[in-house]
Amino acid sequence: MTKKILITGGAGFIGSHLARRLLADGLEVTVMDNLFTGTKANIYDMLENPRFTFMLHDVTQPFWGQFDEIYNLACPASPIHYQRNPVETTKTSFLGMMNVLELALKTKARVFHTSTSEIYGDPVVHPQPESYWGNVNTIGTRSCYDEGKRAAETLCADYMREYNVDVRMIRIFNTYGPNMHPKDGRVISNFVMQALKNQDITLYGDGSQTRSFQFVDDLIAAMCTFMNMELQTVNTFFESKGMEIPVLNVGNPDEYTIKELATETLRQIPSCSGNLVYMPLPKDDPKRRKPDITLARELLGWEPKVPLQEGLAKTIKYFSGIALKST
Ligand code: NAD
Ligand code: UDP
Repeated sequence: MTKKILITGGAGFIGSHLARRLLADGLEVTVMDNLFTGTKANIYDMLENPRFTFMLHDVTQPFWGQFDEIYNLACPASPIHYQRNPVETTKTSFLGMMNVLELALKTKARVFHTSTSEIYGDPVVHPQPESYWGNVNTIGTRSCYDEGKRAAETLCADYMREYNVDVRMIRIFNTYGPNMHPKDGRVISNFVMQALKNQDITLYGDGSQTRSFQFVDDLIAAMCTFMNMELQTVNTFFESKGMEIPVLNVGNPDEYTIKELATETLRQIPSCSGNLVYMPLPKDDPKRRKPDITLARELLGWEPKVPLQEGLAKTIKYFSGIALKST
């Protein structure tokens, strides 16, 4: 029997890559999305595939279906979008997770949850291992996302402990690549679109804050390997590490300042004559971020393969077509 997969948030950036990969693996894929930040353009090429179904639905509203596996991705990920309607963001993280876990409990589906490096907040431990509890403001403008995602992790942990639902969680560190929305607002799409349109590059703060950027293909490889592992293998591994709950950091540990990213973008788009312009740093913007991926390396036998220079070039190629259409 062909495995049936549900991807909530599957019309977004990461979800559309995941859907394409799972279809290529021969599986039946249903994408559920309310198109808040995702678009049909991201899944257009899959709509005709008889093993693909699109379901316009809000994950905060209960739903039903018999699936073998549910990947929970529904949630806006860019600060400008998740702060646009912050109550909705918290609801999506918490109620969406709850609905996914309830369905999984009733139907015995395996769950994959995409958590985030934001659960570490503005970290005081560097790089961040999974054992770090984080440094998060509960009442700031980023809290709707950070705390929503933290509460979703708590739900996963308790559905595992209380009801034995099979859940695998990853904490994704800044990921980029084709299919990001050109107006997504995150730093790579902003810089690339600005440079392609010969505009100034907007650096928030002095550009000394760091991030570690992962190309989307590396993320999808880690997700699928983790999801396909036998439950016993997963449990044995985490028990051997003294961890009760399976959660992995997934990211590329190569760390760059945002100013270095701007310089590299301009190096790859030499036609841009824009300047670096400095704008106020958003509130609670983390100063440093870099994953400790020791556990993912060991469990998955996985390593991020795409360096920033190469991934950026692929992303610029994707956005070039879009920038041409919108000018
Ligand atoms: P995205 O904004 O492109 O995708 C999110 C998708 O969820 C969109 O298609 C959106 O329409 C959908 N969605 C939002 N609210 C919904 C709702 N209530 N009901 C149904 N669908 C809804 O973002 P992305 O980068 O693809 O992120 C996917 C997941 O990965 C998110 O959960 C995000 O928190 C997580 N993540 C991403 C990154 C990253 O760097 N891209 C980092 C950490 C975590
Ligand atoms: N950033 C920037 N210019 C932009 C967009 C973002 O300098 O046009 C900065 C932002 O302040 C943050 C970093 O780039 O320090 C990464 O921002 P992004 O929104 O991509 O992700 P997150 O802050 O969630 O890691």
